[in-house]
Amino acid sequence: MGGGLTVQTSFTLAQLADPDIAESEKILRACVHCGFCTATCPTYVLDGNELDSPRGRIYLIKDMLEHDRPATAEVVQHIDRCLSCLACMTTCPSGVHYMHLVDHARVHIEDTYRRPLGERLLRILLAKLMPYPRRFRLGLHAARLAKPFAPLAQAVGFKRLAAMLRLSPRHPPHRPLAPQIFAAVGARKGRVALLAGCVNDLLAPAINAATIGVLTRHGIEVVLPSGAGCCGSLVHHMGREAEALAQARANIDVWTSIKGLDAILITASGCGTTVKDYGFMLRGDPAYAERAARVSTLAKDISEYLAGMPFKSPQQTPGLVVAYHSACSLQHGQRITRQPKELLAGLGFVVKDVPEGHLCCGSAGTYNILQPDIARRLRDRKVGTIERLRPDVIAAGNIGCITQIAAGTALPVVHTVELIDWATGGPCPSALRGYRSRPAMSTAAGSAGGSPERILQR
Ligand code: SF4
Ligand code: SF4
Repeated sequence: MGGGLTVQTSFTLAQLADPDIAESEKILRACVHCGFCTATCPTYVLDGNELDSPRGRIYLIKDMLEHDRPATAEVVQHIDRCLSCLACMTTCPSGVHYMHLVDHARVHIEDTYRRPLGERLLRILLAKLMPYPRRFRLGLHAARLAKPFAPLAQAVGFKRLAAMLRLSPRHPPHRPLAPQIFAAVGARKGRVALLAGCVNDLLAPAINAATIGVLTRHGIEVVLPSGAGCCGSLVHHMGREAEALAQARANIDVWTSIKGLDAILITASGCGTTVKDYGFMLRGDPAYAERAARVSTLAKDISEYLAGMPFKSPQQTPGLVVAYHSACSLQHGQRITRQPKELLAGLGFVVKDVPEGHLCCGSAGTYNILQPDIARRLRDRKVGTIERLRPDVIAAGNIGCITQIAAGTALPVVHTVELIDWATGGPCPSALRGYRSRPAMSTAAGSAGGSPERILQR
């Protein structure tokens, strides 16, 4: 397929009366089939199949929507393999909004395709469990007990069950934080709502604790409101649109009822990308469109909010070498690339970029459960590039990436905000507590450019 001409479409006027079709048609027509996006698409990079590239998927989606056909098994296979990592959007010179196109395709698939029974049940289980912390906590308890059977599940061909068990934590899940207000220390300089997330508190409560710690110490009041829940991205990526919109509306109701908010902060960048898209998702709902757009404007990733914040007398932290893994949802979904690294470097960490940083680690929401083989290959590739940097710690801004990468390496993996909190007076992240600094080498200046020796020892 050559480049130059835009994709021609032949939707009828009746089809174009549907605003979702009209939107997708606009996106399709922006594509000049140049194929630049193929080079940065993880699934194409792995196997070189055009139908597993953005350009190939765009053609499949066009054909399906234009002819108003039920999704076929072939289309479903190639769309399911898409990670929604959005690397293609960063690469595309024509501004093709692939995210909205593939979201539309997933809804069409959900409406028109009947998956095999086992897959349907698994998807229902994930959709009814993960967005609800109490239910998910019970599920994690069960998965933890069954974890030793992961190799058996793999051996008998239950790869998805095996992946789920492998990803489940070894320790018991924690309890979700109760709704409350965390007062600013000293004079109040700002007020934010925090999206606690469905997974953060259960798997890694240190992320929200670090966020609340660093914010309140710097005069920001943090509201954890009652009634806010899952952002909807989990079911949104499965094409379960009614559920996703219901979850979005519930959050919008809660957040817009809080007075004086400067921002809605999100520490899981996958969720942040979805909340920033609420304005688009609810554009056709007169009762919510305006408030949804307002919420999307207020939504900020924690690194975006902290960037530029004058930190109070940073404490000396060991000049750890940090491999910064840029989550796809942060770098491609929200175009936040500089801020996390600048924050860490400014606080004395030695930050190293991960080669092939544009490629996904394979986490992608529930992708590492639903597509375990591709997810594992991407994880191993990612871990390999990270370990070659010989970092002391890996930092990322998304719990999904943290869980995925941690499952493939012995290196400590933390959320970026945990390091920021530590460097500004908070506790040392638990993943690093086994380390101790050498007394003579405890400043960033002493370690600039990385050290031939480990600055910290186990
Ligand atoms: S999506 Fe963008 S980069 Fe990919 S083929 Fe179309 S125009 Fe080219
Ligand atoms: S979102 Fe990621 S996996 Fe999907 S087509 Fe784009 S680059 Fe490929």
